[in-house]
Amino acid sequence: MSPLALLGGTFDPVHVGHLRAAIEAREALHADEIRMLPCAVPPHREQPAVGPEQRLLMLQAAIAGIPGLRTDARELQRSGPSYTYDTLLSVRGEIGERRPLVLVLGADAFAGLPTWYRWREITNVAHIAVLTRPDAHGLIDPRLEDLLASAGTADPARLAAAAAGQVLRLQIPPMPVSSTLVRTRLRQGRSVRFLVPDAVIDMIADTGWYGAGSPVQRA
Ligand code: ATP
Repeated sequence: MSPLALLGGTFDPVHVGHLRAAIEAREALHADEIRMLPCAVPPHREQPAVGPEQRLLMLQAAIAGIPGLRTDARELQRSGPSYTYDTLLSVRGEIGERRPLVLVLGADAFAGLPTWYRWREITNVAHIAVLTRPDAHGLIDPRLEDLLASAGTADPARLAAAAAGQVLRLQIPPMPVSSTLVRTRLRQGRSVRFLVPDAVIDMIADTGWYGAGSPVQRA
């Protein structure tokens, strides 16, 4: 059964690193669909520069016309912090017990997993796919080493064979792009062309989000 994969994030704003990560994961997992889920209130980081509805609009513009990529706004409809565990339970409730469900995380997000709400129970509900990310440091919490020793795999096919429980390590071509880099460049009045999709650049230039708005933003 084809897995359903979820890529959660703040997407403040969405950039090409997110989009490549989604496409790489979709191909490796043979997933029909990757859902990109913007969070309303990220529990583990400073609050986003731009509101949830705006981040969702940019995400929708970024993925328009890309096969298999969709947005899922369920975390914007909940009040309070966006806990991934609750999101996974909600999606699991919709897709039934048998379909493989995969939570896709960049290596930096995976490194922070032991601080997440009910993190040890996540693999009861879904698989995890950990994507390499160039700016993630190599240190890993011993609790994650234990998780990788018991559930780790490098074979994406193993995730199609069960509904949940495996942790896949996936090498993807390195894209050293982050939302922080994009926000910094926008604040400095510098170009972000080829770091974010053109449709998102147009939206940011039109609205002045992130303190942008000078003509250089479209360069
Ligand atoms: P910020 O710089 O504001 O912290 P970010 O670029 O890390 O943001 P997020 O929206 O927090 O973006 O990331 C959502 C998910 O996408 C996370 O799991 C993150 O690890 C992953 N991700 C983001 N950028 C990349 C990238 N360049 N390569 C691989 N994974 C990425």
